Amino acid sequence: MRIDKLLANMGFGSRKEVKTLLKNGAVQKNGDIIKSNSLHVDPEQDVVTVHGERVEYKEFVYLMMNKPPGYVSATEDTRDSTVIDLLEPEDIIFDPFPVGRLDKDTEGLLLITNDGKLAHQLLSPKKNVGKTYYAKIDGRVTEEDVVRFKEGVTLDDGYVTKPAELSILTRGDFSEIELTITEGKFHQVKRMFEAVGKKVTYLKRLSMGTLDLDPSLELGEYRELTEDEYHYLL
Ligand code: URA
Repeated sequence: MRIDKLLANMGFGSRKEVKTLLKNGAVQKNGDIIKSNSLHVDPEQDVVTVHGERVEYKEFVYLMMNKPPGYVSATEDTRDSTVIDLLEPEDIIFDPFPVGRLDKDTEGLLLITNDGKLAHQLLSPKKNVGKTYYAKIDGRVTEEDVVRFKEGVTLDDGYVTKPAELSILTRGDFSEIELTITEGKFHQVKRMFEAVGKKVTYLKRLSMGTLDLDPSLELGEYRELTEDEYHYLL
């Protein structure tokens, strides 16, 4: 890979700014000052430094966020703040995007990456990736609802949902539940409860496939996936 591309990708400025860095002797490859912007480096093998600081090159970034309410799951929005606004500049340089959407008022696990292939696979209906949600429900959730969710309920647009697993955590006029679905239709959890005459008043995603929300992440916090979390994702 060309040195100017590597440094520009890693956030050291535009190609032009990187050229100036090189001209000023700020960049070294394996201990030797390099000045040519077209010189090739091997990001895996060569030690590249800028002003003496080692540059760790990576192509992809994988972030787990505990999404707070009030933010939209998009890269840009004309009205609202986005989950990308919560990232540090050193992560934004990768041009990451959220994998799938959580509603503005939904909290919990959101994977943010720039790996389009992985995102595509996780979202593909063929992969049947389960997503588990915790929800508070205005209404008494019953065993009948468990059966109906298992069999599929008809949403307001006539779509019949695939089998979903509903567990009742607390029963009463207000209930708490966990629900695992393998699809990602617009407002799906809320619309599934509407289909059985109940209203979701709070929604939080707990997991997506093998990936569980790290309970130590406060709302709005995020961290990189561990090697194991990445490895077992698909
Ligand atoms: N289902 C919903 O209704 N909202 C979400 O944010 C996610 C799933």
